[in-house]
Amino acid sequence: MKTQLVTWDLSELFPRISSPKINQAIAEAAALANAFEKTYRGKIINLNAAGLLQCLNNMEMFEAKFSDITLYSNLSFSANMTLPQTQSLNDKVKKLKAAIRKQLTFYRLELGALLKDNPQIIREPVLRNYRHMLERFYRRVKHQLSEVEEQIIIEKDQFGVDAWEELQSKWLNTRMFDVTVLGEKKKLSYGEANGLLPHPDRATRESANKSIYGLLGEDKEIFASALRSICNDWVNVSKRRKYISPMESSLISNDTEQDIIDNLLRTIEENVGIYQRYLKLKAKLMKLPVLGNHDIVAPLPELPELTFTFQQTQDLTTRAYSSLGNQYDTAVKEMFFERHIDAVPRFGKRNGAFCASYYNGKSAYILTSFNGTLNDVFTLAHELGHATHDWYASRSQTILNMNVPSLVAEIASIFGELLLTDLLLDEAKSNDEQKAVLCLVLDEAGMTTFQVTARVWFEQALYSSIHKGEFLDYKTICRHWTTSRNRIYGDAVAWFPEMEAEWAMKPHYYMANYRFYNYPYVYAQLFVYALYDQYLMEDQEFVPKLKKALSAGGSLSPLEIGNIFNLDVADPEFWNKGIKVFERFVTNLHKLM
Ligand SMILES: [Zn+2]
Repeated sequence: MKTQLVTWDLSELFPRISSPKINQAIAEAAALANAFEKTYRGKIINLNAAGLLQCLNNMEMFEAKFSDITLYSNLSFSANMTLPQTQSLNDKVKKLKAAIRKQLTFYRLELGALLKDNPQIIREPVLRNYRHMLERFYRRVKHQLSEVEEQIIIEKDQFGVDAWEELQSKWLNTRMFDVTVLGEKKKLSYGEANGLLPHPDRATRESANKSIYGLLGEDKEIFASALRSICNDWVNVSKRRKYISPMESSLISNDTEQDIIDNLLRTIEENVGIYQRYLKLKAKLMKLPVLGNHDIVAPLPELPELTFTFQQTQDLTTRAYSSLGNQYDTAVKEMFFERHIDAVPRFGKRNGAFCASYYNGKSAYILTSFNGTLNDVFTLAHELGHATHDWYASRSQTILNMNVPSLVAEIASIFGELLLTDLLLDEAKSNDEQKAVLCLVLDEAGMTTFQVTARVWFEQALYSSIHKGEFLDYKTICRHWTTSRNRIYGDAVAWFPEMEAEWAMKPHYYMANYRFYNYPYVYAQLFVYALYDQYLMEDQEFVPKLKKALSAGGSLSPLEIGNIFNLDVADPEFWNKGIKVFERFVTNLHKLM
C-alpha cells in the first residue's frame, strides 16, 4: 500500500492549517452572521413571501461560507487529534460555532412565529425550493413552548437529563475490565474490551462479554435510576409539548408517520423466522449445537482470511459502482482521483469511518482506517455511497436542502454495499469465499434490521410500563430487555445470564431529549433492500430514478422519495419486499452448505 496515495489532500479548502486564509474566512463568516442579525432581528415575523425568500437566501450565504471552515477544522482534527494545531483550530471553531448559534437563535424562533401566524406562506410559489424544509419546520413549531418555558427546560436539563447521560459515559470510560485474551489475563478499558467482542477466538469473546456485562450488572441500581429518570422526564416533557406519544418527536425529526413505522415493525416480527433460520445455519457452519450470544457477529472459523490492498479496494469499489452504467461511478472515481479519502491508520486518528459533505466543492471527504479486511472494503463502499449522494444533491440543491432525513440518507451507501456484494459473489474463487461474504452481509443486516427492532420494542415497553404506573426498577427493565430480545432470537441463541444488563451500556438510551434513535436503521436497511429488488427487475430503467432520488437531497419527504421508484412505503405490505432480499441471501448461503 503506497501511503501517499491514501492520505487526503485538503488544500482545496485551505492551503494549510496555519494559513491566514482561515482567519480571513472566519472574519467573513462572522461578518455575514452580523449582517444577518442586523437585517432580520425582530423583523422576520413581518416578512412576506418574497422577503422570506431573501432571508433564506441570506442564511444560505452565511451557511455556505461557514461550512468550509467547520469542515476543514473537523477534517484536520479527525485525521490527527493529537496535534496542537488541529486541537487549537478545532477548539476555536467550536467556540465560534456556539457563539454564532446563540447569536442566530432568534432566526429559528422568529421563523417559527411567522409560520405559526401565517402557515399559508409555505405554499407561496416563490418559496417552492424551501417548501418541504418549511413544512418540516412547521410540524415542529406546533410543539414549541413559550420562550421562558424553553429556557427553563434548557436550564433544568443541564443538571437533569444531561447529567444522567454524562454519568453513564463517565462510568463506562473510568472502569477497567478483566478479560482473558487468548489465555492471557488483562485489565482493559471499556473501548479495548468492547473491541474484543467480535474476536476470532471464542473463549476471548466469552471472557469479554462476561466481564463487560457482569460489571455493568454490579452497578445495576445506578443504571436503573438513570434510565428510569430519563424516561419519566421524557414523558413529562412530551405532555408539556403536546406530543401524542413518546415517539412522536422522533417521527417529526425523521419526517415520517406512526403507521409506517408500525407496519415496518410488524413486518419484522412476522419474519423473525428468517433471521433465526440464518442464525441456525451459522451455528452449523461454526459446528455448534446453538449459537451463543457471543457468536452472533463472530467471524466464521476455518474460512479464508480475505485480505485486500488499497489498490484492489479502489478497483473493486469502482467496478461495483460502474456496474450500474450511466456514469453512476463518476463521484467514486473523483473521490479517488482528487484524493478526498484518508485511509491510512494512524495514531491520534478518529475511530471508525465517516463521509463529510463538501457543499462548495460539490463533493465530499471520507475518513476511514483501512487495514485490508473484507469489512474495510465494505466500509469504503458504504462511505463512497454517501459521497455519491452528496455529489448528486449538491448539484441540484441549495445548502438548506442538503440535510437529508436519516430514513433516506443511507440509500446510496447501502445500495453501494449491495453492488459490491454482487461483484464479490460473482468473482469469488471458492464456495468458502462466497460463504464468508454472505455471512458478513447477513450478520450486518441481521443486526440493523432484527436486533435493532428489539431495541425499539424495549423502548416502547419502558413507556407503556410508565403509562401503566409500574415502577421501573432494575429487574423490570431487564425483563423488558430480555422479552424484547427473545421475540427476535427465539431459541436460535443461548444467552449468558449477564446479558440481562446489556441495555445498560447502550449510550443512545441515555441521550438527553433524543428518544427512539433506533427504527431509522431498520427503515433504511429494508427500504434499500426493496430498492435493490426493483433494480434487479428494471435494470437500466432504474438508474435515472436513483439519480433523481439522490439529487432531491432533503427537498422531498421519505414517502415522496419512495414514489420516485413507484414504491409506496405507506402500503402495509411494502416492507416484505426488503425482507425477500434478506431471505434470498439466507437461501443462497443454505445452497452453499
Ligand atoms: Zn451510513
